[in-house]
Amino acid sequence: MASEFDLIARHFTRPARRARLGVGDDCALLEVTPGHELAISTDMLVADTHFFPDTDPRRLGHKTLAVNLSDIAAMGARPTSAVLSLALPAADEAWIAAFAAGFFALADEHGVELVGGDTTRTSRTLTLNVTILGEVLAGQAVRRSGARVGDDIWVSGTLGDAALGLAALKKEVTLPAAEHDYCVSRLEMPTPRVALGLALRGVARSMLDVSDGLAGDLAHIAHASHVAAQVDADVLPLSPALRGVARELALRCALTGGDDYELCFTAAADARAQVEAAGRAAGVAVTRIGAILPAAADAPAVGFVDSAGHALVQQYGGYDHFGA
Ligand code: ADP
Ligand code: MG
Repeated sequence: MASEFDLIARHFTRPARRARLGVGDDCALLEVTPGHELAISTDMLVADTHFFPDTDPRRLGHKTLAVNLSDIAAMGARPTSAVLSLALPAADEAWIAAFAAGFFALADEHGVELVGGDTTRTSRTLTLNVTILGEVLAGQAVRRSGARVGDDIWVSGTLGDAALGLAALKKEVTLPAAEHDYCVSRLEMPTPRVALGLALRGVARSMLDVSDGLAGDLAHIAHASHVAAQVDADVLPLSPALRGVARELALRCALTGGDDYELCFTAAADARAQVEAAGRAAGVAVTRIGAILPAAADAPAVGFVDSAGHALVQQYGGYDHFGA
């Protein structure tokens, strides 16, 4: 059987490009562009918790990197390099090769260099972890704390597809074949909105990526910014797949489902043309879904209304791994 070192050499070692020193030594050595800040984030995917163990390894390689790129995108930073750690129950070479192919295909698309990692055998659960590094001009990162009363709330792409895909895989719903494949692809191969994040620097005042459902994630912006958010549930961007199911299910997927990896951000009302231009430049739809209001002690951080402005009877919260 291949040793840990053979596996690394065969599947995860490429000549260093931008890095001074890449895979193979005790540390990688990277240069930081003068005048920039380093943006760092890490995200772990655990079998049975974050994905089905029999997920296509190529898709899993894509997703492992994509969820990390999404965090870099949400800061308006440019991804540069990544570190990849794997705890593998078995050294299945075909699986590892396919995983690496999916990982590198997305890395190449974004000019991201794999500069190191760790590879270990486990008797337990397949666990995948990426630490991603990016750069942003000093002071230009878009934080969660910048929303102001009167800002518009925007979201990229469509919401809830991945959650509906998950429900379909769990056989909780049955979708027509094309919608099934579309939603499962959105779950297994999310598209990190890196170009949009970059285009929104200086335009968005606050931003995050939607990974645990819009309701809960938007509450993070509201709390960090000491404001409240009101969302018009009737204007949420929904794909044809979501529009094809019952409204209640579509709303639950769009507002509380995880794994969207879209960007949610706020911007001044006089920046609408700039936001739309950023969306066009990045090739992704942007939809204005609500407004930032003053925080109120007796109202939730995020409220949902219909297009007539009436509060929805059913309100929504986010997903929490340790929640009840
Ligand atoms: P150490 O014992 O110093 O931690 P390792 O033997 O774990 O070193 O790793 C050897 C080299 O291979 C290091 O440069 C490490 O960054 C790299 N590496 C290990 N696993 C991976 C991986 N999955 N992807 C990329 N690089 C890896
Ligand atoms: Mg090691």
